[in-house]
Amino acid sequence: MIENSSSLVLIQVICVLCIAATVAWIIMVVPMKVAPSASSRFALANFSILVGMQLYIQRTDEPSYLHWLVADMFILIGFCLLRWGAQRLYHLTSSHRNDLMLLFITGGLMLLAKPQASSSAYLMIILSFSAATLFFMLAKDHYVALKANFTAFATYWLVIPIVAIGFMFFIRAFILMLYPEKVSNYAAFNAKESIPILWTYIALILIVNILIIGNTINRLVVKIRTLANKDALTGLWNRNALQHKLNTEHQRWLRDKVSFSVMVIDLDRFKDINDNYGHVAGDEVLKAVAQQLSSATRKLDYLCRFGGEEFVLILPLTDEDNVLQVASKLQHKLAQIQLDWHGNTISIEASIGCVTMKEGVDAEALLGLADKAMYQAKNSGRNCVKSANLMRLQSDSINR
Ligand code: GH3
Ligand code: MG
Ligand code: MG
Repeated sequence: MIENSSSLVLIQVICVLCIAATVAWIIMVVPMKVAPSASSRFALANFSILVGMQLYIQRTDEPSYLHWLVADMFILIGFCLLRWGAQRLYHLTSSHRNDLMLLFITGGLMLLAKPQASSSAYLMIILSFSAATLFFMLAKDHYVALKANFTAFATYWLVIPIVAIGFMFFIRAFILMLYPEKVSNYAAFNAKESIPILWTYIALILIVNILIIGNTINRLVVKIRTLANKDALTGLWNRNALQHKLNTEHQRWLRDKVSFSVMVIDLDRFKDINDNYGHVAGDEVLKAVAQQLSSATRKLDYLCRFGGEEFVLILPLTDEDNVLQVASKLQHKLAQIQLDWHGNTISIEASIGCVTMKEGVDAEALLGLADKAMYQAKNSGRNCVKSANLMRLQSDSINR
């Protein structure tokens, strides 16, 4: 029972924070539909911690499983839910089994002592070790997920607060093991000594929620950015992304003079496929082409759907001879596609134009030259590769 009025106010603040966070996450789930499966776990996490806190503060001198064991379990389940939410958010492998095992062991160890104030040191040590483990694992999940998208500096700054919370629980467990008589400072909510602990809980709830809100928004931004740069039908990069990549490669060329090439691939008589088999068949052909081209190119190459049935490939570290070899290989690969469409076999041919970066050409002009080479291939009867002889094509375009 609460005797100290400052403690009472702080406990009310904790409850208000937990309620506000629960409601905020429910809003994310229901009307906003922002990462709903992760957000619903974050809402439940805050709610679970709230229930745990409510039971916690009702502790009296009477033995009670509800106010000790059940309260601690609700708080630990809240921490597990934070982890499961983060795993949903970052599409990480679920750790449900291991976490439930940890809860089971924690509960088992807690049952070894009577649920009353005289066992509080023992019970709090168990709770603290278990909470520390969950926060360290939560930090590990964040580290794995964030290092894929952020610089090492940003990753560490996002992970360090979670590690710090883990350490806080860890140190608390050690202090209680060394000085069990200090338990009144750490266990009681009804005394003046509990005020720093209550402030720590407030900070903990705030930090955790700010971090997970930040991570959810970040995840959303990464998703929006990806969607803005991807072609919906094929999943390849789109024209928007191509421009950016082309400029980057061009800048690198200006600085290091490491050659790179550009290839324009246009499917031959694609309109006939649409006319003969329908648009849906045409779409399937585009997807098959995208898949075939992706699997035939290197990870470092940049494949885009430029529009319609036209694809552009940027090939870093590739010179004039190599790009011609790659073009022939891709032509060969495309010829292997035999799409079965309602008993008919659709095959594909393509005209390819390529160009290798040379002095005095800007990124935009380079793409134009590859396009001209592709039209040369069309004019030469289609289903062939043409390389832009930069000098000749440039003088052609000047003379025109
Ligand atoms: P060419 O050999 O000269 O390149 O002839 P083509 O028929 O391939 O070229 P044309 O430019 O005449 O026609 C391209 C066709 O591609 C027309 C358009 O309807 C179709 N197309 C563009 N985008 C899509 C798409 O997303 N799905 C489908 N199914 N067809 C598309
Ligand atoms: Mg075409
Ligand atoms: Mg075309």
